[in-house]
Amino acid sequence: MTEALVIAIDGPAGSGKSTLGRALASRLNLQTLDTGATYRAMAALALRRNIELTNLDAIGELARSAVLDFDHGVRIDDIDVSEEIRSDAVNAAVSVVAANALVRSVLVAWQRDWAQRHGGGIIEGRDIGSVVFPDAAVKLYLTARAEERAKRRADEGQESIDRRDRLDSTRSTSPLTMAPDAHLIDTTELSIDEVVSAVMAMIDVARGADR
Ligand code: C5P
Repeated sequence: MTEALVIAIDGPAGSGKSTLGRALASRLNLQTLDTGATYRAMAALALRRNIELTNLDAIGELARSAVLDFDHGVRIDDIDVSEEIRSDAVNAAVSVVAANALVRSVLVAWQRDWAQRHGGGIIEGRDIGSVVFPDAAVKLYLTARAEERAKRRADEGQESIDRRDRLDSTRSTSPLTMAPDAHLIDTTELSIDEVVSAVMAMIDVARGADR
């Protein structure tokens, strides 16, 4: 294992990625990167600029020129979109923007650069273990029953979550998928403490194997 420890957490909406990420970050003294927020920021900017979401070239060009900054909230092209990225409009737009291969190549490069600048991190998303960090020290794939996931994301509503999960799992570029060497954890019946201790044990094993 290199010095820059990367822990990859993938899974569908509401599977518990962010909660686990925060808990691990304080224990491991690493920062977290919510890669969903990078796609959400791009969708928010596209909506602000009134760009047709299905215009692949125009959205790709937007991604190439946009400047993301996650150091103080979530900013894109100097606009603070920290709250806007959780809106219904962005929930409805984000999976379409995230299916655009040009957008993905720009954002994956940005995410890798972020990890380099931060000495690794706890990185959560949909394609982190499979595409963005295939050499991550530990790869986790979280799931939870659909009703439980909808309960955790009550603000968004089941229909919107189902639609995003469907689009995210069936797109041709980097669909939501479990890397073959990822640990599958169903968080439906587990407390956060139980998940954290299981994952800390996996991390210890991975660290030990590298010594
Ligand atoms: O994680 P979150 O639910 O906020 O992600 C929002 C959307 O961003 C997902 O529904 C998906 O379309 C996209 N996404 C992605 N790849 C990632 C992270 C998120 O395509 N690594």
